[in-house]
Amino acid sequence: MKTLIVEDDFLARSLLSTLLSDFGICHVAVNGKEALGAIEKAFDENDPYDLICLDIMMPVMDGQEALLELRKIEARRGIRGLDTTKGHYGHRY
Ligand SMILES: [Mg+2]
Repeated sequence: MKTLIVEDDFLARSLLSTLLSDFGICHVAVNGKEALGAIEKAFDENDPYDLICLDIMMPVMDGQEALLELRKIEARRGIRGLDTTKGHYGHRY
């Protein structure tokens, strides 16, 4: 499983990364903008993320905006319905 953790809080990011690394590759991003760069790159390399853990409140680009952009990226690439990226959106920090 290839996971992307998008979280601005260092401790939360580290904890999630440690936990989810047991299940496969685990990348981290510190805000929505950085995440979208990683997501586009993964699609370009034909190796998209299976799971994205997306925090809501983050500087630069928050999780809600990043999610809207992710769905636009998927739509442009013809990815729809059950084929879209699975996620856990938002926990409070
Ligand atoms: Mg946060």
